Amino acid sequence: MISLNERVQGKDLQRFLNSRGVGDACPTCQDGKLSIAVFDPEGEQEGNALAIRVVHLLDDGSRRGYGEFMRVCANCGHIHYIRDAEVLAFMEEESDNG
Ligand SMILES: [Zn+2]
Repeated sequence: MISLNERVQGKDLQRFLNSRGVGDACPTCQDGKLSIAVFDPEGEQEGNALAIRVVHLLDDGSRRGYGEFMRVCANCGHIHYIRDAEVLAFMEEESDNG
């Protein structure tokens, strides 16, 4: 299922990737640029739009499972998934440091 995490905006994900030295060149076609998938139907929120998260749930109906944020290459369709746990931990750490 697709879900939005009210705390995570596109710019937060970008800050996480920058902190880890991850660039935006597409590794598959070498030509395209990976852009963060966000929920922005009007196309006017820029970095403030909420990041789209794909959530995998176990079929026992429990809340266990995990989520992924993603980036997409508009040239070749390559999808880069980023597990949410690392991003959320990064944001916790940031808020602990003021
Ligand atoms: Zn590509």
